[in-house]
Amino acid sequence: MNIPRNPTRPVCIGTVTIGGGNPIAVQSMTATPTRDIEATVRQVNALADAGADVVRIAVDRAAEVEAVAEIRRQTRANLVVDLQENYRLAERLAPHVNKLRYNPGHLFHHEREKPWQEKVRYLAAVASEHDCALRVGVNCGSVDPALQTKYDPKDRLSPMLDSALDHCRLLDELGFTRYCVSLKDSDPLGVIEVNRRFAQARPDVPLHLGVTEAGLPPEGIIKTRIAFEQLVSQGIGDTIRVSLTVPNDRKPEEIAAGRQILADIAAGRVRSVVDYGLSTLNIISCPSCSRVENEAFVELAQEVKRMTGYARDHKITIAVMGCRVNGPGETDEADLGLWCGPNYVNLKRGNQPLGQFPYDAILARLKQELDALIGEQTR
Ligand code: SF4
Repeated sequence: MNIPRNPTRPVCIGTVTIGGGNPIAVQSMTATPTRDIEATVRQVNALADAGADVVRIAVDRAAEVEAVAEIRRQTRANLVVDLQENYRLAERLAPHVNKLRYNPGHLFHHEREKPWQEKVRYLAAVASEHDCALRVGVNCGSVDPALQTKYDPKDRLSPMLDSALDHCRLLDELGFTRYCVSLKDSDPLGVIEVNRRFAQARPDVPLHLGVTEAGLPPEGIIKTRIAFEQLVSQGIGDTIRVSLTVPNDRKPEEIAAGRQILADIAAGRVRSVVDYGLSTLNIISCPSCSRVENEAFVELAQEVKRMTGYARDHKITIAVMGCRVNGPGETDEADLGLWCGPNYVNLKRGNQPLGQFPYDAILARLKQELDALIGEQTR
């Protein structure tokens, strides 16, 4: 089937070009600690061998810059660095990678007195100097706080869209056009809507598609498939990532899942859209990355899924996140949220923190809260 694609501009990321009618590129991200060079190189290469066009690595600390330089020396994969709050590391990382990803919502955490426009100007200058592309990576869990106050708190998508469009406008004004945009949400229906709205406003800007914290396979793949089928079939999307909560040695499954979804869409093997999560238990979990401080996270996500099976017919969302960096924000929309630290798991119910619990005690505490929620729903 020949699906017409949006007329996006080409953006070169190392040896791969996204947009401009090129095949949709498939990406993934390492989940090993970035400072563990050997393990990270092994994972980058495993992903590249599985067919990843681009591999992303997260960097939070200055100490990880040298690791990225060494990883670069040991692999030929196209590399993207994920700048979290510490955007100033860009100038030290850019010489070693092909693309920089920044999150507009994280540009506020450092140098608060500096306007975000100045920070973007700096990032565009660094990217230009080092032959890098940029990704404006907007995430539902960490949107620019000023934009959030403009809208009804229930409207998660408009602040995301505004943020992306503002950054595109500024980059265009700066004459930097080698960028793509992503708008990720953990709800596939949100991903569909916000990407449709963006593509309508900016059909020229390449889009990176993904459902964040899609969770464990097979449900994580199904959620992602729902979003990709609706978008790719309408010509939206130039590169994709399937985010799955799987152990490190199974990360290449993200690439296989992405390629399978794309092949199915191209062949017309499109499933009917499931009205996902509207009346059933919804467990979301992040795909893990180098920020995970305790590898027991993946096992915990699996145990949460097993333990909560009895609640499958209840409309409750449980979020399980791997780290203390994004965990608190990314669990905001959930009824029950967990995020992992080195020795403890944090738990909250809605916005109310319930405390930290050892790994061997968290499931029992979670069950207590889940039972209370079910009790309230059935009362
Ligand atoms: S929640 Fe934390 S560990 Fe999970 S993918 Fe996001 S940054 Fe990585």
